[in-house]
Formats: sequence, C-alpha cells, structure tokens
Amino acid sequence: DNTATGTALWEEVVWTNATREAFRKDPLKWYNDFWLKYFPATGYELCGYKPSRGHEAIAELTRLKVSDVRVITQNVDNLHAKTICQWDTENCLIEAHGRVGLYKCIPEEDSDTDSESDEDEDRPVKLGSRKKRIAHKRALNDDNKNNRPCVYEAMKNIQPSELNPEDVRRVLDPVVAHVGHHPDAPPASSDDADADDSNSRISLKEPPLCPGCSRPCMPQALLFDEGYHSHSHYKFETAEEWIANASALVFVGTSFAVTITDVALEFARKKGVPVYNFNLSDRLEPTSRLHAENVLGPADDTLTSLLALCRKKLSDDLYFNVK
Ligand SMILES: [Zn+2]
Repeated sequence: DNTATGTALWEEVVWTNATREAFRKDPLKWYNDFWLKYFPATGYELCGYKPSRGHEAIAELTRLKVSDVRVITQNVDNLHAKTICQWDTENCLIEAHGRVGLYKCIPEEDSDTDSESDEDEDRPVKLGSRKKRIAHKRALNDDNKNNRPCVYEAMKNIQPSELNPEDVRRVLDPVVAHVGHHPDAPPASSDDADADDSNSRISLKEPPLCPGCSRPCMPQALLFDEGYHSHSHYKFETAEEWIANASALVFVGTSFAVTITDVALEFARKKGVPVYNFNLSDRLEPTSRLHAENVLGPADDTLTSLLALCRKKLSDDLYFNVK
C-alpha cells in the first residue's frame, strides 16, 4: 500500500522544512509552501478533529481515585485538553512538542553557545539545558533594555488574536477567520502525505508578526534544530521530574524516534522502571535491562480496556478491604 511511501515522503518534507534555519531564509514562503499545506491554519479543532476514545480513556485514568498519572504528549493537536472528561491539564499534561494554533518568537540568530555541551548538574533525567534557561531569564532582566530578548522568544506564547498585521490575523485566528473552514468535514488521514485541499487554498500575503518585537513569528512547535529548553511551553524541567519520579512508564503510539522517548527509556533501563508499550504494531523488545510489556492493538481499544481493568481492580480492592 502507499501508506509507507506517504509516511516516508511526509517525513522528508518535515525533516527538511521544520527547522528555524528554513524559516529564517524566507518566512512567508515557509508558511505558504510548507506549514499551511500540512497544518491547519487555525488549529485542529476547527477542521473536525475530535478527541478519540483513547484520549477519553487517558483523561479518565488521571481521574481515578488512587491514580497519580502525568501525561507528556508529542502530539501538537491539543486534543488531550479537549476531552469530554474534564481533567487537570494545567498540572498533569505537558505538550512537549508544542501546539498548532499558538505561536512563538525566535531569536534573529542562535548564539554560539547553543552548540556547547550541557554542563548542568547531575540529575537523573536530562531533556534540556537548565543553564540556557537561566541565562535566558537573566537576559530578560538585563539593565540595558536593548539587550533584553523578546518575551515571546522563550517564555510566553503568542495567541493568534495577538498576531499582526490584521489581514494575517484574519486568516490565522479561529475567532475571526472565515477562510474555507469545513467544521463538519472528516479529518484527513493522519498518515496521508498529500496536503488537505481545504488547507492548500489558504495562503498568506505576509508572514505573521510578533506582537512583542514585530519580527516574523513561528507556530508553537518544537523544531528539529531546537531543544526542549527553547521555550517554556515544553516544560522540560517538569517533564524531567515526572519521568525521574515515575514508578511505571506507559508509551502510547510512540515511534520511539524522538529524544524524549529515548531519554525516558534510558532512565527505565538504569532504574529498572517497568515500561508498557501500547502500540498498533511496533514492539519494544524486553531485555535483561528493560522490563517491557507490549500491548498491541488500536489504542482506542487497548486504553479503554486498561481503564476498565483499573476500575475493576479499584472496586475489587475496595470490596476486599471492607471485608
Ligand atoms: Zn518577538
């Protein structure tokens, strides 16, 4: 079938375009020829994406009486926060790779220190550089106003309603956008490499500009040439703590191809933390160092079963304790 080809093509498109470097060369072209072709201009919700049963099961799991679940997602669709089941997304969810629909500023150029090795203090899980965060915060308080970086560079998100100029905002802000939305249209298959028709018609006449510094700004997504410390949205220090304190790690639908899963797996091997891999088909081989269990199948089904089993266990425990 053409799914594999599609995925490979998609990966190549993303790999060569999803960088600060590509963006800086020509921000307008970057938006029109890459970003808006593959990502919905006003976020995922408006084009019909809805949380699945898997999202709902995860939300329910966090709400179980004795549960202590934290969710780190690599998805950029904000669907974990849109479940019918209300849960504490503010404190229990990290969107480690960003959120389509929000924006961020980037520095004009990356300083040389970005390639320096991280000499941070020893800690069990390292996802980013604490030193660089500290240096950035210090720069924000520089006595000389001209030396201070834009607040949207690494600290704050830009809401679409804050984008400039107005005609760009009219395309990108879901509240005022009226460009070819089809809220009832079914979402394009996620592994379809072809651009969605409704998206390919959207183009900008100029790039969105940062409300803080008036330079072209980027979507709030972690790019290949950026670290988790590059913006506070990725909450890398909190993610490090969650992983370091986890008594079990559950992966759902991950390809095990990104830094955060590598780091988490390495931690699991070192500390003997059990790992559960909920996946359609990709297995995680257990070794003498890695306690891995594979739960294969559609996550909508496997996570819903997990929720049911947890609920049963809780009520059984309650029953036997009472006795
Ligand atoms: Zn800015």
